[in-house]
Amino acid sequence: MLARSGKEAPIVTIIIYRCEKCKRDFNNIADAKKCEKSHLKIKEAHIKSFGYGIYPHPYEIEITFNNGDKIIYVAEYLRG
Ligand SMILES: [Zn+2]
Repeated sequence: MLARSGKEAPIVTIIIYRCEKCKRDFNNIADAKKCEKSHLKIKEAHIKSFGYGIYPHPYEIEITFNNGDKIIYVAEYLRG
């Protein structure tokens, strides 16, 4: 690309740091590492009492994360 002066515009190197967990970009490595550490890890997974029904996959799974949070995930086909 040519600059207004008619000379070749200098190539600028831009360094970004990306959180591998959520793919957000940061302009410094500390913030990227902080973001990566903020994402929770799965500690346990339990199939809820409804089980499988006629489907190959369970209706609901309760996930316990490394900070103790528990979240119930429902199979997509049940969400309507
Ligand atoms: Zn992240």
